[in-house]
Amino acid sequence: MVILSSPSGAGKTTLVKLLSKNKNFHISISHTTRTPRLNEIADKDYYFVDHDKFENLIKNEEFLEYAKVFNHLYGTTRTPVIEKLEKSENVIFDIDWQGADQIKNKKLNYKLITFFILPPSKEILFERLSNRDMKDKLIVEERMKEFSRDVLHWINYDYVIINDNLEECYSKINSLIDAEINNGSKDYDKDFIRKHVEKLTS
Ligand code: ADP
Ligand code: 5GP
Repeated sequence: MVILSSPSGAGKTTLVKLLSKNKNFHISISHTTRTPRLNEIADKDYYFVDHDKFENLIKNEEFLEYAKVFNHLYGTTRTPVIEKLEKSENVIFDIDWQGADQIKNKKLNYKLITFFILPPSKEILFERLSNRDMKDKLIVEERMKEFSRDVLHWINYDYVIINDNLEECYSKINSLIDAEINNGSKDYDKDFIRKHVEKLTS
């Protein structure tokens, strides 16, 4: 299991798609009560469901984890994930820190590697969010406001990677996953990340 989390707009969905394509990872498709973005495809990017349907899934204990994020519910159903893991297939998750905590605390019998993705700067994050959510300034503002709170969770992840150049960021994640699987040496500088977080939050 590989989890990618980040403040909104840092690039984890883009990275999850790249990793899934190049490394043969299955992307875990989440359920959400939020409405689809223009370019999103139902049952591929998310299972878009209404509040009642989501509540029913909670009641029937179908979620491996779920959380409220930006006033919407998001969750990962257990069965599709466990079925793949049981076949020794890898699964990659694009979920927030609450979901990552829940999965970590379950201490499942599968190897878990967690990554937290950071933007190079707040200005670049704003640009990326504005380009993506062009039609809705409120969404951009709401997500920028959450940034300083979200970023504090970096400390609970195995690795924190800065997504400046996409290819380089992808390549770092790729190498760390391979090193984890093969018990190889890991090129990772936590002090550098700590200083970057200080800059982002100052
Ligand atoms: P998240 O899933 O973390 O909210 P996305 O993957 O949706 O973020 O990325 C936010 C926006 O930034 C998207 O429009 C995406 O194409 C763009 N983006 C992602 N990574 C980079 C990068 N390294 N350089 C430039 N743009 C990027
Ligand atoms: P977005 O609306 O931008 O697609 O996602 C908003 C946030 O919800 C992101 O941080 C994303 O990682 C998170 N998210 C997406 N699916 C899930 C999920 O199934 N569970 C949890 N806990 N968070 C999710």
